[in-house]
Amino acid sequence: MTMYADIILPVPLNRLFTYKVPDSLQFSAAEGARVYVPFGKSRRLTGIIARIHNDRPYGNNLKEILGILDSERPSILPVQLKLMEWIPEYYMCAPGDVMKAALPSGLRPDSGANEQSYKPRTEIFVRLGPKAADYLTADYSQLFGKTAVRQKQIFGKYLELAEIKENPNNPAPVSKRSLARFCNSPSALKALEDNGLIEFYELETGRLPQFSGKTQAPQPLSGTQQKALDEIKQSFRSRNVCLLHGITSSGKTEIYIHLIKEHIEKGGQVLYLLPEIALTTQIMHRLQKVFGNDMCVYHSRCSDSIRVEIWNRLAGPDPYKLILGARSAVMLPVRNLSLVIVDEEHEPSFKQEDPAPRYHGRNTAIMLASICGAKTLLGSATPSLESYANAVNGKYGLVTISQRYRNMKLPAIEIVDTAELRRKKYMHGIFSPQLKERIREALDNGKQVILFHNRRGYSGIVQCPDCGWVQKCDRCDVSLTFHKESGLAVCHYCGRKYHIPASCPSCGGKSLRGRGYGTERIEESINEIFPRARTARLDLDSAKKGYEQILSDFQEGRTDILVGTQMISKGLDFENVSVVGILQADSIMSYPDFRATERAYQLIMQVAGRAGRKESGATVVIQTRQPDARILKMLSFDDWKEYYEEQIAERKLFSYPPCSRLVSVLLKSTDLQQVEKASACMAEKLRDYFGKDSVLGPDAPQISRIQSRHIRTILVKSPMNTPVRQTRTLLLQAADETGRDEGLMNGVILSFDADPQ
Ligand code: ADP
Ligand code: ZN
Ligand code: ZN
Repeated sequence: MTMYADIILPVPLNRLFTYKVPDSLQFSAAEGARVYVPFGKSRRLTGIIARIHNDRPYGNNLKEILGILDSERPSILPVQLKLMEWIPEYYMCAPGDVMKAALPSGLRPDSGANEQSYKPRTEIFVRLGPKAADYLTADYSQLFGKTAVRQKQIFGKYLELAEIKENPNNPAPVSKRSLARFCNSPSALKALEDNGLIEFYELETGRLPQFSGKTQAPQPLSGTQQKALDEIKQSFRSRNVCLLHGITSSGKTEIYIHLIKEHIEKGGQVLYLLPEIALTTQIMHRLQKVFGNDMCVYHSRCSDSIRVEIWNRLAGPDPYKLILGARSAVMLPVRNLSLVIVDEEHEPSFKQEDPAPRYHGRNTAIMLASICGAKTLLGSATPSLESYANAVNGKYGLVTISQRYRNMKLPAIEIVDTAELRRKKYMHGIFSPQLKERIREALDNGKQVILFHNRRGYSGIVQCPDCGWVQKCDRCDVSLTFHKESGLAVCHYCGRKYHIPASCPSCGGKSLRGRGYGTERIEESINEIFPRARTARLDLDSAKKGYEQILSDFQEGRTDILVGTQMISKGLDFENVSVVGILQADSIMSYPDFRATERAYQLIMQVAGRAGRKESGATVVIQTRQPDARILKMLSFDDWKEYYEEQIAERKLFSYPPCSRLVSVLLKSTDLQQVEKASACMAEKLRDYFGKDSVLGPDAPQISRIQSRHIRTILVKSPMNTPVRQTRTLLLQAADETGRDEGLMNGVILSFDADPQ
């Protein structure tokens, strides 16, 4: 019978492609195998077989698969295939988008050529030669005579390293390099080879750094921690997901370590997701002490070769037991997954914004776990309202820890009214007298300080003080940020850099200057006020130079003050921080978004949580122009319930998540009129389908033009119990009808964002 294969191809179309499996490939074609196929007039693409079947599809010129890249075993495991089908369904993208996001580029050669861009790294190894057996039975030390001391030494060393005595049938691999390190004599090695005592062979070795050193048992848990661990396990008996709501520095990571160990000992695999790559190093060291080389670390900054290597090992017979990674690690091959941990589960950065697939790492991980029959543990000191609501309504288990490890106190919160201070002329630059005093105290006592601000660069915007003109990006509707280091104004959306004009293009004024401030200017100002303090800055700009160094310098006390953006708020564990300053809480609290309060709350609590982790008595200074803001009154762990209920009531009232599901429809075009007409028309159709209260917009988003494309968004709310598939069908139908209206969709790029963050 003729065989057909439905194939995932890396093209932006919402479907699979059916090819004929030629007779010659019938035995090697398997679901999950990578193949290359002809596409269009002359292209060749690498794709993945999603399904093999005998149903001849309609149409005549069915093409054939050209070849199979995975003849020995499929690179994509059954679990991945299922996830690769679920993601496009739920997040409304093309299967090919998921393939591109999942597979390292080394595994999907563009041309579909038979050869792959990834070349395994090899090394020369040594094993016993054909004559060795004769010698080994005798006393080999006799064999070399007096002239061949070196041969004898090297051969002896080889026997020792290979542990021949202990395992005569299964010697340990010994590299030529390790013998050369012992005695660097190429001629002796050559002589040994010529005499048939040893021979050389090539072996694939990894590029991955190996952990050398002895692994240790996890730290013993405190009573509170042990109780939480027991509760988590108890909750897993009846539920698949458990939320661990533990105050910052309660030792959640220690609890994870114990749980991971139990799962690995029972033969399971564990996936441990973090929101931010900057975090992986710190946690990797903690985990490596316990799990050594059983674990791997996977994120977008790994080189492609490393990613291929990790992938191959995971798809092969001897996979890693523990995978630590950022969002994208959720798409790695797994066979025996029994536990997924999502740490800092509330973090918006778990959501991929652009390009598609716009998936949520946490939610995708929960789906993955459910495909595998595994359990999921979500951890956070400030859970997302979505997860907390699921815990309250009983869908997830809930375990709470309200004490820090060793009963360390949460830092005291000091709210500073900057509006008043400025009015009374007590405050000039960036720092209030209170904050300066706290910093001075900390430095005097040999403590460290973290200063948080959510804008990088030097000044906020470049503005003319005479007429108010603001320098903007030509392609995006965004004010530029002045970076002093480079002397340029930078668009933080598209990255384009601009010179500052010598005079104002609007009024000719000569005094253009930066207004507001960013992390760069804070660092400069700190250096002026505290010239002896050693400062460092952690934001996207400095991260390019190596955040690992910046973080380890701070951790080991080589810097005193760390200035940073969001990046420093996430789960970092520093021992010696006694002051945290939040320089402008207003900029956090004033996001035009229904999640503004939730985000501000999480951010402030998390930044504050970096202080006082090893000693009590720390302070968090919050500078703000709105000292009476409601959330600033709720910043203790005990206020959590009240905060949650207020927020949920608000979400219910306006029917926002978690009380509804949102899909954001994005329309983009270089032609402003076109995108306005198309979005208005589509919104009308959507109102017909979903009801008029469930569709908001079209709106011009806060940044309404990016890279010369005008953007309009329509927000669609649907009840939680409406199947995603149904919502999607209606959305596509509305787009289709809009397109039929006088070609309104011509030149308009349409995309969907399910569960926008
Ligand atoms: P969280 O993840 O809840 O913020 P961590 O796991 O990072 O907390 O713990 C905070 C600090 O306390 C870390 O430095 C950690 O090493 C230490 N710690 C927590 N629990 C223990 C324990 N059981 N034994 C030793 N040290 C612990
Ligand atoms: Zn001007
Ligand atoms: Zn721009």
